[in-house]
Amino acid sequence: MVNGTRAARRRPLAAGNWKMHRTRAETVRLLKTLAARLEERRPAAADGPPVAAAGAEVVVCPPFTALGDAARALEGTGIALGAQNLHWEDEGAYTGEISAPMLVECSCRYVIVGHSERRQYFGETNETVRKRLGAAARHGLHPILCVGETWEERRAGRTKQVVRTQLTSALAGFPDGAPAGLCVAYEPVWAIGTGQAARGEDAQEVAALIRQLLAGLFGDDAAAATRILYGGSVKPDNILEFSRQPDIDGALVGGASLDPSSFAEIVERVAR
Ligand code: PEP
Repeated sequence: MVNGTRAARRRPLAAGNWKMHRTRAETVRLLKTLAARLEERRPAAADGPPVAAAGAEVVVCPPFTALGDAARALEGTGIALGAQNLHWEDEGAYTGEISAPMLVECSCRYVIVGHSERRQYFGETNETVRKRLGAAARHGLHPILCVGETWEERRAGRTKQVVRTQLTSALAGFPDGAPAGLCVAYEPVWAIGTGQAARGEDAQEVAALIRQLLAGLFGDDAAAATRILYGGSVKPDNILEFSRQPDIDGALVGGASLDPSSFAEIVERVAR
């Protein structure tokens, strides 16, 4: 068991994956409203940026085209910026790709790696996930590494095996320690965008496995310090079922992160 009292060191995190939604102008509007909604929820006595005061870290991951505008809109809010993917090379003949230095220049602090939609539609493999993680680590981007099983894999009783393979092969490129700021998002593929979230105890079971695997790879302290998120149809009315679990430190939120009121409510509940 590596969660225990050390869990106090892990700051809850709510990350919004906007996928291919929102233009530049829409992004600025959404972020202004989100900052206002979070400000309204700031505890009365708290100083500083609203999000810090709420006790959770908040990250938004808009499309690449909106990152520059998002960075400006987020100044002074305490909300961090992330991207949805990155290439493993710093530059080169890779039409349509975006590199880590380009994301750093846009003020990104986080990057999602290995999202199931990348695996499903764009040929992402455990090998390319490992390479992308390497690029994130080289440039100081905090990776949000996504793992999770399909419905067929769950039905066949292969959930733990699939997650184990995804996690260990993604992290095989780090013999000397976990990438700085690593977060792991357990996202059952069948729960993403379907409205059918996992049960809290099932998500906890996989999160505990992830922490155990991290301990085997990097030691107990690193495992205890790594944030593990749940993702898959998270909404304000089900987030507590996940954030209450001892090994779940927050959420990666798709659809509900596009609604500022819903996302602010999720942030508030994650922070509790
Ligand atoms: C996601 O895209 O990572 C996700 C969890 O989506 P949703 O919350 O819409 O299921």
